[in-house]
Amino acid sequence: MRILLAEDDPTTRRNVASLLVKWGYQVTLAVNGTEAWSVLSPGLGTHEEPPTLALLDWKMPGLEGVEICRRLRSPDRPGPYVYVLLLTGNDNKRDVLTGLDSGADDYLTKPFEPEELQLRLRTGARIVEREEMLRHLATRDPLTQALNRRGIFDLLERERLRAQRSAAEVTVMLVDIDHFKRINDGFGHAFGDAVLTEVVRRLADAVRPYDGVGRYGGEEFLLVLTGPPTAFDPAAVGERVRAAIAATPVRIGDAQVTVTVSVGVARGEAGQSGDSLIHAADLALYGAKSGGRNRVRLAQATDGAAALAS
Ligand code: GH3
Ligand code: MG
Ligand code: MG
Ligand code: MG
Repeated sequence: MRILLAEDDPTTRRNVASLLVKWGYQVTLAVNGTEAWSVLSPGLGTHEEPPTLALLDWKMPGLEGVEICRRLRSPDRPGPYVYVLLLTGNDNKRDVLTGLDSGADDYLTKPFEPEELQLRLRTGARIVEREEMLRHLATRDPLTQALNRRGIFDLLERERLRAQRSAAEVTVMLVDIDHFKRINDGFGHAFGDAVLTEVVRRLADAVRPYDGVGRYGGEEFLLVLTGPPTAFDPAAVGERVRAAIAATPVRIGDAQVTVTVSVGVARGEAGQSGDSLIHAADLALYGAKSGGRNRVRLAQATDGAAALAS
């Protein structure tokens, strides 16, 4: 499990860090409060999730530990819950109350026994793991393990906000399996389920690890791709996705079937809403279907505008 250790005193930092490593944590260090806050804030251009367990010193230059707690508990902060164990210099009752009131989950007074730190962190890790499991259940499709509708919509919103803050843009892709009903009818529903799982595996392989693959509907998938305008060519990624499905037949047990998909791609414009982006991709997908299936269509700039107007 990953943990943030924010401590300005070099000796304490070194000693505690080596204990944490010994106990099996992956440690990110911060030498002051400002650095700690930036580690906990999903950064511009980075796709790594911040740690969800934090050991924060109270007295630090820049932001104090309690101020970081207050910010973490602000209702409009997105992302997973961060469990905070606050390290305090003294155990006067008033300080303990202030620490807990700021949003810390627990506190420990320096100097402390390593065993007590270990056990208190174990409590935190247990809660964080539980949270993570519930988040997984709430945002994943149980059949394919792709993000479910809620999960992919959340990701699209996050990426749109991130794109607005940086020079990136969001591209969405709607991918619909061609004539999937025939696969179900010909091979049975369980076979169809296995095809859906294999399609998701191929979609995930065809995009970058931090792109999102979500199950939008029954046999329809929503892909969310981000990056600076120069990072990739949406038409080429669409083609890669199409080919990843069509190139080799899907084998399940003794049976095999060639599966194809139709793809609608829409590249986001500044300020374009998620809904209008998806609508534009949907129109493009419709074009790919009516154009003969097993093909990629790019949304026209006017598709988004039409969606905005509607
Ligand atoms: P098109 O090329 O026009 O997209 O044709 P299609 O047959 O793929 O589209 P249609 O919407 O007619 O049928 C979609 C089928 O997907 C119908 C539905 O039973 C099936 N389906 C939806 N969810 C699941 C699922 O979870 N498992 C299985 N096996 N089938 C599913
Ligand atoms: Mg300090
Ligand atoms: Mg279909
Ligand atoms: Mg469909």
